[in-house]
Amino acid sequence: MKCSYCGAQINKRDSVCIECGRKINNVHNDLIEKRTMILTKITCLILPLLGFILSIIFSSSDSLKSKVCLRWSFIGILFYIALFILFLLFWVFIIVNVLG
Ligand SMILES: [Zn+2]
Repeated sequence: MKCSYCGAQINKRDSVCIECGRKINNVHNDLIEKRTMILTKITCLILPLLGFILSIIFSSSDSLKSKVCLRWSFIGILFYIALFILFLLFWVFIIVNVLG
């Protein structure tokens, strides 16, 4: 295939044109990008602390990724808080019913 910017012959799986250095937008790369984003979101959701660290790492190079990491870390934290509250309510319910 040919680069859409400079017309140089490029490999279909290349992410960057070797002639002009621009990013090649093809379906293959879009798919990889989407999968990476989904993986990043899941990682941030499960490990919010890692999400914050990633957010700081990406903040200088990729602001969009940085924001996504930060947002999903917050969702992850909220999820853990909700889980913790449910856990507390469960034990309050058990204690009240057993002792009361
Ligand atoms: Zn090119």
